[in-house]
Amino acid sequence: MSPFPNCLYFTFALFLLLLSLPSFPARILQQDPLTELAADIQNNTWHAFVKLIDAGKGSQVTGMSELKKYFQRFGYMPIPDQNFTNFFDEDLESAVLNYQKNLGLPVTGKLDDETMNEIMLPRCGMSDLVHDHSSLHTTKNYAYFYGRPRWTKTSPMTLSYAFSPNSMIDYIGASEIRSIFQRAFARWSSAIPVNFTETEDYFTADIKIGFYSGDHGDGEPFDGVLGVLAHAFSPENGRFHLDAAETWAVDFDEEGSKVAVDLESVATHEIGHVLGLAHSSVKDAVMYPSLSPRTKKRDLKLDDVEGVQALYGSNPNFKYTSSLEHDTSSSNRRRTRTTSKWAIFFGMVVLIFSLCL
Ligand SMILES: [Zn+2]
Ligand SMILES: [Zn+2]
Repeated sequence: MSPFPNCLYFTFALFLLLLSLPSFPARILQQDPLTELAADIQNNTWHAFVKLIDAGKGSQVTGMSELKKYFQRFGYMPIPDQNFTNFFDEDLESAVLNYQKNLGLPVTGKLDDETMNEIMLPRCGMSDLVHDHSSLHTTKNYAYFYGRPRWTKTSPMTLSYAFSPNSMIDYIGASEIRSIFQRAFARWSSAIPVNFTETEDYFTADIKIGFYSGDHGDGEPFDGVLGVLAHAFSPENGRFHLDAAETWAVDFDEEGSKVAVDLESVATHEIGHVLGLAHSSVKDAVMYPSLSPRTKKRDLKLDDVEGVQALYGSNPNFKYTSSLEHDTSSSNRRRTRTTSKWAIFFGMVVLIFSLCL
């Protein structure tokens, strides 16, 4: 009997084995460290959404109403509805589609792994859909608040900032917090002709920074560990609030908590809102809405810089550097891993056939 049928069986079995390996893009995401992290963190606000993964349109799953509230909170369900059902209806599908478009995810309209992983990430409390659609820059990814508000002081502009005398955290020293914010403000002022200066007078400061827990009087209550990390209001309001329940970190070598959040990254993001930028759909931009725990995202990217310079003009000393370029290494890495699995597959097929012959 010819050895070829056996070879074909081997090859077919190998093909099935490869299909079952977790190296294809959709399966890689199931093994994302974030999913493992979410499983570890009992008080992660949005962890319960994990049971909605792969739920399809027309299905009914307990907890779907909470996901609708999430989408409503961040601007994807336009009409507030206190009686959301657990039914995956058309409104939810259109919310998922808009969310995926807005966050730069594959637009499937489904609660796939990648979408659910993004939804469960800690993020900024500002809505994603507040941007000015009349902007001339509709082909760009950065966005503004309605009406493109900006600070209107005469140029060269100096904005003052102050820390709340009563609402700070005590496990990071005051001088360390001041340095973190100095560096965060300096990133933006290097791009635009706006200076920032710290003042002791909290009540007259343009920008008022403080750490708050739960309901703190502005209609946007914080939610405990992870979930919403911070929010800041559009110009010329100046309120800049951080969730006091987070484990804020200066340096991850010194702060070992799994739920630690990089204070400097969040400070840099919220200053973008203070200046008038809304959320960007560019994943590595500072103005992207989410931030994983134990992750730094401090450097402005081209999208952030172009967005803020369109509002305020360019700082004459601003220089483009390579750090502004967008990081595509993660998507390249994924492609490489997928490609290498196929290379192994074809290598094995050649090997089996040469052994059979
Ligand atoms: Zn934000
Ligand atoms: Zn607030």
